[in-house]
Amino acid sequence: MNLRKGNTRIGRTAVIANFATVIAALAVAGALLLTLQFFSIRRELIEDMRAQAHVLGLNSAAVLMFEDADAGTETLNALRPLPDLEAAALFTNDGQRLAEYRRGDQRALRALPRTGYQGGFNGFVIADPVVLEGRTVGHVVMRSSYDRLYRGLLAFAGLFVLAGAGALAISYPLVQRMRREVRTAEARLDELAHFDPVTGQLNRNAFNEHLRLMAKRLHDEPEARMALLMLDLDNFKAVNDTLGHHFGDDLLKQVAQRLFDMLRRSDAIFRIGGDEFAITLFPVSSSMEVLAVAERILAAFRQPFQLGSQEIHASVSCGIGMYPDDARDLKVLTSNADAAMYRAKRNGKNSFELFRGEMNDEMQRRHRIQIDLRKAIEQNELRLHYQPQAEPHSLHVVGVEALVRWPHPELGWVPASEIVSIAEESGLIVPLGRWVIRRAARQAQLWREQGIEGLRMAVNVSARQARDEDFVDFIATTLERTGGSPEQLELEITESLLFDDTDRNIRFMRRIRDKGIRLAIDDFGTGYSSLAYLQRLPIGKLKIDMSFVRAIPGDGEAITTAILAMAHSLGLSVVAEGVENEYQLDFLRRAGCDVVQGHLLSKPLVSEEMTAFLLARVEAEAADANHASPTRARQRRLDNGLVPVPHKA
Ligand code: C2E
Ligand code: MG
Ligand code: MG
Repeated sequence: MNLRKGNTRIGRTAVIANFATVIAALAVAGALLLTLQFFSIRRELIEDMRAQAHVLGLNSAAVLMFEDADAGTETLNALRPLPDLEAAALFTNDGQRLAEYRRGDQRALRALPRTGYQGGFNGFVIADPVVLEGRTVGHVVMRSSYDRLYRGLLAFAGLFVLAGAGALAISYPLVQRMRREVRTAEARLDELAHFDPVTGQLNRNAFNEHLRLMAKRLHDEPEARMALLMLDLDNFKAVNDTLGHHFGDDLLKQVAQRLFDMLRRSDAIFRIGGDEFAITLFPVSSSMEVLAVAERILAAFRQPFQLGSQEIHASVSCGIGMYPDDARDLKVLTSNADAAMYRAKRNGKNSFELFRGEMNDEMQRRHRIQIDLRKAIEQNELRLHYQPQAEPHSLHVVGVEALVRWPHPELGWVPASEIVSIAEESGLIVPLGRWVIRRAARQAQLWREQGIEGLRMAVNVSARQARDEDFVDFIATTLERTGGSPEQLELEITESLLFDDTDRNIRFMRRIRDKGIRLAIDDFGTGYSSLAYLQRLPIGKLKIDMSFVRAIPGDGEAITTAILAMAHSLGLSVVAEGVENEYQLDFLRRAGCDVVQGHLLSKPLVSEEMTAFLLARVEAEAADANHASPTRARQRRLDNGLVPVPHKA
């Protein structure tokens, strides 16, 4: 791809245009000066001749009066030294030529012309009356050539051309230097316009240009196939935030180099955004060949990167679009490869995906939800459902978890995970998160007013909300306004996003803890938390991920036991979520789990149902305390609480 050719042409054209302008300016100036010179020399000639005619008139008055031809000839011969004079003659009053003078074989002045000046192309004639004592005694006539004028003009023009050429010759090296400077500047501009200064690779502009060129080429070669790979580094922000931008840039440079080294000469790589790269593979024969390249790319990332004295592991998510299989239009192909890349990200990163048709529907759905979600938050269309959390032995409800729900007018109930991931991607998580806090605090207030006391409200918070600087203050104000106490609020932060920006998130969590609000790590075991990290986090609780509970009986038992032991050794309490059967409950009881949550106890309920559920609990427990035997009390609890209530959402 030659991106420079156009600019060299611009440089040459600019220099030629410069010269042409200078020459045109010189030509116009020369023409003006020549015209001026013409008029000034001509005026001089005429005035000279007029003066001569006047003197001749004075000298010839007597000659004319006495019609003395010889004396006349003698007088006229005295004019010989005048270089421009071609002929002169004396005429009597009746128009007879009395005497004449001619230079060489010049034409004679045969007849008396009109009095005064008469100009021609080659020269001019002056005829003056000769007056003696108030009486006209005859005429003097003189004819002069313009030779002097033309010679003067020619000399002037010659000089002017010489001067102009001299000036151009002197300015030529200057122009050449200017041209070189322009060329350097152009090359620099070209570089800035097409190359990324961090990695030295081609940038997004160049990518767009390359696609335009490729479109032409693919059009001309109907058999040819091309693959477009869109790559996005996983968790690059974490590197930038924890190690600093300098190391972030260094990582990008090394990544770009590693990718570049893997490609053939006919392939191309572009850095098209912060941590996004695009690769075109051309020509390719099959998608198998492309998948092999994608495999090699992922493999290349298995080697750590050396950043200063540290080794860090990075990974990449890659989406692949094939031309013409997935799209004949390269813009469409780009968005298809993008859709595949997002799918790879959502599938847990460090992977690649070949585009499939339904991915577009998925992108469109996400786009639609994003647009409608903003309105839904503003117009209060969202709902909160509540799921109880209980002590495993007594099944006494210790808290509820608030879970967001959205009855979309056309799409139906949108799953919470979809709402949250779209909100996180679009920044809507900030207003959404505030709405959830407000609504949950209000519900807790209503329950207190109905005599349901001592209940902890668990609210899910995304680590992305750490970017909402005033969020913690907002929670405090909301609690004050609704009369809630901070220790009755528990924020659950999902583990997976926690390490995108560890320092900021820890600061965020500390500010929450400093307000007296409790913190739990949600979905523990799915992210990257290690013991070392857990010790740094200001948390009081872990929620074992549902996938481990689901694997009870089975592999889940060992993992759950290990997590419980580790958490308890750190002084953390543990919630098991997704408890669906008695076996799991029993196991968790024996393993020493602190709190259980799941469909066995209740599915998430709308607020009215949850209120009824809780009131029944309060009543039952009060009755137990007053009359019933422990075995009957347990039976009552089971009757009240463990019968799953129909799931509305
Ligand atoms: P989570 O916080 O881990 O919530 C538990 C999820 O498991 C809920 O799904 C709940 O309905 C489901 N669940 C509870 N018990 C059982 C069970 O016994 N079996 C099964 N199969 N599932 C059970 P849901 O409501 O779809 O929420 C999904 C995720 O969305 C939540 O996971 C949470 O991470 C997120 N989320 C929900 N509401 C909010 C919110 O208001 N804000 C934020 N940031 N995230 C939220
Ligand atoms: Mg949760
Ligand atoms: Mg969870």
